[in-house]
Amino acid sequence: MAHVTLKNIQKHYDRHTPVIKGVDLEIKDGEFVVFIGPSGCGKSTLLRMIAGLEDISAGELYIGQQLSNDVDPAKRRVAMVFQSYALYPHMTVFQNMAFSLKLAGTAKSQIQTMVHKAAEVLQITHLLERKPKALSGGQRQRVAIGRSIVRDPEVFLFDEPLSNLDAALRVQMRIELSKLHKELGTTMIYVTHDQVEAMTLADRIAIFNAGIIEQVGTPLQLYNQPANLFVASFLGSPKINLLPVECLAQTAQGTTVRLPGGVALTLPVGGSGTAAGSMLTLGIRPEHLHAEAQDGDIGVQASFELLEHLGDMQLAYYRLPGADAPWSVKLPALAAHPEAASSATLWLPPAHCYLFGGDGRTLQPLETQPAENTRQPRL
Ligand code: ADP
Repeated sequence: MAHVTLKNIQKHYDRHTPVIKGVDLEIKDGEFVVFIGPSGCGKSTLLRMIAGLEDISAGELYIGQQLSNDVDPAKRRVAMVFQSYALYPHMTVFQNMAFSLKLAGTAKSQIQTMVHKAAEVLQITHLLERKPKALSGGQRQRVAIGRSIVRDPEVFLFDEPLSNLDAALRVQMRIELSKLHKELGTTMIYVTHDQVEAMTLADRIAIFNAGIIEQVGTPLQLYNQPANLFVASFLGSPKINLLPVECLAQTAQGTTVRLPGGVALTLPVGGSGTAAGSMLTLGIRPEHLHAEAQDGDIGVQASFELLEHLGDMQLAYYRLPGADAPWSVKLPALAAHPEAASSATLWLPPAHCYLFGGDGRTLQPLETQPAENTRQPRL
């Protein structure tokens, strides 16, 4: 097992297209870290740089204590599992899993032991004599993982390994990967664009955007204390509800903004760029809005648009004056709901509201300093 350290890692294919713009990250020994971000933000490229499949343009990569920028991929003691399982079709499962060991000149008896041990962990012992075409997608992916386990790597690298599986199988494999990590205790770095995978698998998530890391933290830290508007909007389904609001005042009590209809809301947060008259963004997640007032809630007028029944709950959509997108509200499955196109009051519990400055940063609680683990400077 090994820790992985990225120091100001950069990648550009040519001078005009920087893809990774200076990433610093310390991945602890045995940690499960997930890279997530929109398509094209550079997460696969960074994973491939750690694997040695892409050159590192600048910066330092340490695997364990060793500076590994120029270490041959085969000598890095990392094993990568790809989205496409890339199994050899003419070989059996056993032969597929044994292939790298055979190439490395491992003794036959040892290969037997290692393949059988990995097959046991993955519960595919009964499939060892089958060819890949006689396996389901989930079984093939297990073989691909088995092939990397037998190499006994210091670090596992997963590049969207579950994307080709159907929804039910993805859930099952996700749980199995989590168990596998607990069992092996090996450092794992996992790329996905699926926020549920990220939230459920990760010890820590790194959220990427256009070649930089926006924030690193535990899943709940990122969900509950997003450093900025990008992170707040990226995590959460449906997305956080947003509304441009005017700052009325910043005082020792916090920041006061004007809501539609002229209602004032004061939150105990502050930061630069919050002078009276400046524009801020208010955010509140769909599960925190109330259709009926509770103690301390602030009401805003909205117009009810649409209801979706999801079985275990309902999603109601409302239009708010000034909001670019409809607001969504999670309601209990049997809750009463308004008539279409009727006006309604939505109730905001202030403790669950966020304010974002003009630069997108989350205004911080007054008694604490801004989180340190946030947004790295663009080059
Ligand atoms: P992600 O995995 O986050 O979807 P990638 O790491 O695959 O993103 O790609 C990051 C960016 O690098 C993309 O804009 C992509 O077009 C660009 N890119 C990837 N490979 C090459 C290449 N060989 N030459 C030039 N640009 C590339």
